[in-house]
Amino acid sequence: MCNSGQMLREHVADLRRQLKGLGARLSTRTDGDPLNAQRISDATQRLRNVCAIREFELTSLETDLSRSGTVTDQWTRLVAISQACRAFAADCLALEQRLSLAATPGVKDLCGAADRICEEFSNKIGQSRYHYAVVSEAEHFGANASAVHLSYARLDPWHLSRAVHEFGHLWAEEFGSKPDGAQTNFTSAIERSWEKALAKEFFADLVATFLTGPAYAYSCLLLDFNPADRVKSETHPSADERAFAILTALDLLVSSSDEFTRPQMRVLAQQLRTFWNTARTEAGAGGSLQISIELESAIDIAIKRLASDVPNAQYRDLSRANAVANNLANGGGRPPDASCADILNGAWLQRLNRPEEAVVIGKKAVSMFITH
Ligand SMILES: [Zn+2]
Repeated sequence: MCNSGQMLREHVADLRRQLKGLGARLSTRTDGDPLNAQRISDATQRLRNVCAIREFELTSLETDLSRSGTVTDQWTRLVAISQACRAFAADCLALEQRLSLAATPGVKDLCGAADRICEEFSNKIGQSRYHYAVVSEAEHFGANASAVHLSYARLDPWHLSRAVHEFGHLWAEEFGSKPDGAQTNFTSAIERSWEKALAKEFFADLVATFLTGPAYAYSCLLLDFNPADRVKSETHPSADERAFAILTALDLLVSSSDEFTRPQMRVLAQQLRTFWNTARTEAGAGGSLQISIELESAIDIAIKRLASDVPNAQYRDLSRANAVANNLANGGGRPPDASCADILNGAWLQRLNRPEEAVVIGKKAVSMFITH
């Protein structure tokens, strides 16, 4: 039997071999679409950077072990490094899954639409970059490799707004988390009532509503949230609480939207609120939601802060969404100047007109996203 120090070195060597194997598989990847070459190159480079950090941590652990000769602290450090290596492997696997799905009709275009959505928002926040959304069991934002993960089960046009929520996490972690950042101020303002992880979920919803207006609310309230869900989990506020936050944010955004389509935006927001109140009553929730005034006031401050930090990213005008809806109805293509946020909204407007055509409308909308 070897001693504890030798054993720890064996663990380190094993992790190093794992990293080396994963790193080797990242080289020269392609999904067959030349338009995605730069996206994949950027995504794999971000993963290589993560790999280099994990390798450095292992080297530093070994150096400290040979210096001090004591192993207790090093075993504890190894736990953290092992977990980070496992997260890295999950990111690598998610990339493999996207690459292997590239040959699947429909899925390829849908992932391409998610890339365009994230790239448009990166541009609007003044941080242009390529995105190559990866595919996992559930949506999330992988902070280490700065990657948006889509859900394998929800590779469907009407769930694209979930990519917007994940982009909200990306903005919040990378640009709103300094000591005086927008997310930091929001989570601090409600910390007496909400754990930080839950507060961050509210914040990602606020960013997504800010970026896409009614489209995000439609997707959450009509497809995602269960009106009877009034119990928060360890990771997320309840659906009822999230709906409250999204509807509050939408009302605030209506008042600062462009004058020409503001009345239409107001009607949509009111219809959504009425729909949700009716749905929760019918689901037996009944009564008003017990929400602290502190959350309502923090939402107000957060929306104002977003308008100040990333003014070009606010969704404020439905005119091009109306043009998208018309073209989806009449067989037209992507209207000039229509943004991804306009397509998301236009698709919802047309779906509400023609609910029985949701599948066809979704497919047409995806082809609009990937039209250059
Ligand atoms: Zn989230």
